[in-house]
Amino acid sequence: MSARIAVVGSTNMDLVAYVGVAPRLGETVTGREFRTVPGGKGANQAVAAARAGAEVVFVGAVGNDPFGPELRRTLADAGCDVSRLRTVAGPSGIAHIVVDDEGGNSIIVVPGANAGVTGLDDADRAALAGCDAVLLQLELPVSAAAAAAEAARAAGVATVLTPAPAGELDPALLDLVDLLVPNEHEAAALTGADDPEHALDALLERVPEAVITLGGAGCLYGARSGARTRVPARSVSAVDSTGAGDTFVGALSVARAEGAGPEAALRFATTAAALAVQRVGASTSMPSRAEIDVELA
Ligand code: ATP
Repeated sequence: MSARIAVVGSTNMDLVAYVGVAPRLGETVTGREFRTVPGGKGANQAVAAARAGAEVVFVGAVGNDPFGPELRRTLADAGCDVSRLRTVAGPSGIAHIVVDDEGGNSIIVVPGANAGVTGLDDADRAALAGCDAVLLQLELPVSAAAAAAEAARAAGVATVLTPAPAGELDPALLDLVDLLVPNEHEAAALTGADDPEHALDALLERVPEAVITLGGAGCLYGARSGARTRVPARSVSAVDSTGAGDTFVGALSVARAEGAGPEAALRFATTAAALAVQRVGASTSMPSRAEIDVELA
């Protein structure tokens, strides 16, 4: 039987302008190229999990602007159940991104419809209750993540939190997290420890399991029970790491829900993320289950 995953999270349209040198405040420059790319950490993780082989239900909101139907379609086309995706009056969430020729970027996220997702209704809770895991991030109001974590805990569903964007974490939410998956910057921000091994020690005082992703250096996993392992990244030629973290979390959650042990699940996620970084884009770069299986064979 397929893994069943719920994602309670954000959808954003990424508005990406490519420019030689990013403008300073008050300055106007001519850009080279512009793209609209469906994103949002919630939607990206949902697409990653669906492509990695899970049945996925998405809980969130889009606006009634032209981006709303496109964001909905991206999730539906990946096979996600969008019956719990509301359309609300007003704009969809957007991320306004400037990428310069050095690959540096600056990003403004305007939450739009995401800001209105402040909790769950009974139908959302019912959808969650039938799942193996619920994936949470911090791009919705924290009350929504807390409500989802509470509902999941009550129903015996595993909770996986990506603490991004980095910032203060509600301790009450953290108490309800089974697996925390920060990148190294988020782990340092949460713990004050720059060394991932030390950061992991500190995280395991707060959650039973954690994985710190380390970009091209792989990841570090630990459990309060004492297990600890470092998995190197696959040696590939990376062209765009956007969405690598979301691909990793989506795939990791699918493997765990299917019953894989920590090492096998980390290998599956590492393989999925390595495939994603070899292609441009976020949701567009996420590998299918067949592609992941071929690499692992
Ligand atoms: P993003 O914000 O770009 O989605 P992230 O910062 O959340 O990413 P990373 O730690 O950069 O997450 O990457 C997640 C995983 O993706 C890593 O643990 C690794 O397995 C894989 N990965 C990232 N970069 C590379 C790379 N250059 N080569 C191979 N694998 C990579």
